[in-house]
Amino acid sequence: MPEISILEHTSTLSKYMDLDQRGRVLAEYIWIDSEGSIRSKCKTLSKKVTDISQLPEWNFDGSSTGQAPGHNSDVYLRPVAYYPDPFRKGDNIIVLTECWNNDGTPNKFNHRHECSKLMAAHTKEEVWFGLEQEYTLLDPVDGSIYGWPKGGFPAPQGPYYCGVGTGKVFARDVIEAHYRACLHAGINISGINAEVMPSQWEFQVGPCEGIEMGDSLWVARYLLDRVAEEFGVKVTLHPKPLKGDWNGAGCHTNVSTVGMRKPGGMKLIESAIEKLSKKHKEHMSLYGSDNDQRLTGRHETASMESFSYGVANRGASIRIPRSVQAEGYGYFEDRRPASNIDPYLVTGIMVETICGSIPD
Ligand code: ADP
Ligand code: MN
Ligand code: MN
Ligand code: MN
Ligand code: MN
Repeated sequence: MPEISILEHTSTLSKYMDLDQRGRVLAEYIWIDSEGSIRSKCKTLSKKVTDISQLPEWNFDGSSTGQAPGHNSDVYLRPVAYYPDPFRKGDNIIVLTECWNNDGTPNKFNHRHECSKLMAAHTKEEVWFGLEQEYTLLDPVDGSIYGWPKGGFPAPQGPYYCGVGTGKVFARDVIEAHYRACLHAGINISGINAEVMPSQWEFQVGPCEGIEMGDSLWVARYLLDRVAEEFGVKVTLHPKPLKGDWNGAGCHTNVSTVGMRKPGGMKLIESAIEKLSKKHKEHMSLYGSDNDQRLTGRHETASMESFSYGVANRGASIRIPRSVQAEGYGYFEDRRPASNIDPYLVTGIMVETICGSIPD
């Protein structure tokens, strides 16, 4: 058989994707596994879905994903949101689900359940989030950084951040495809930029209110994995994919409450930062794994050990944007979360800390 590239396969596939589905709808159920990776399986439905309640609960073999023991392996998938499917198009959908155990308790890796309770308790504060998801592309065969000279390194960091031109950006086609896929799916994707380390990129999702933040980020990550599959590139969310003088990857978490967004809101921003300063360790424990490799106090990060904040300071734990300081209201940015966070854990504890009253 002649060698056929992934891209040629994809163009052959398009002929079949146009075939009539005869009224049936494909629903790709996605969930988060024990490693923080996404899994999915597909179900044929008899008609177009117009409300979440029309989507049946489903299940999978949790012993194959590290989510249940073999002797009691059924894990249930409860639909919580659905999105137009940019790959299959038409009435086909992607269904975001929560994982539940046989005994009616949330699965150990279902962090959405707790997060949605926290968000529901604080709807009055109208908490908005904006997440900046950084990620790195890898060669699918040897796992080296995508597009870098084999066995060597590109020129040092400098020209790559928001870079334009050959040798300064890598895989712009992948990023462009992902952007469109997010828009098609109705994700509130607010922008994209090339990052400091070559083959590292960022997309921003938000502002999103409450539980919608975690939902949207997970779906955007799923879309990125799927697009990368088609282009034959690997995505890693590791916060420090390469040791040395190369930037790590974070997931800066921008936050505001309705009060912070109004004139005089700076007072509320300051009191939120004060509350955060008292819970640094607790937050760090939910801000991603291997984050100690990234939060060194170098490469635009603050040290893991201590809490700090400042206006326009990219070396602080918390940054107040210059424009927010000038206007006296707006939002703040928590720069500590790693790229591999579960956004449900991070947005959940954020709401708990800044909207709850903490005794001294
Ligand atoms: P940076 O300057 O840190 O790179 P970005 O432009 O990448 O910032 O991301 C800023 C993020 O902040 C976006 O996701 C945006 O939606 C979000 N954002 C903007 N205004 C607010 C707000 N009032 N509350 C919460 N998030 C906000
Ligand atoms: Mn089977
Ligand atoms: Mn950014
Ligand atoms: Mn960035
Ligand atoms: Mn940022």
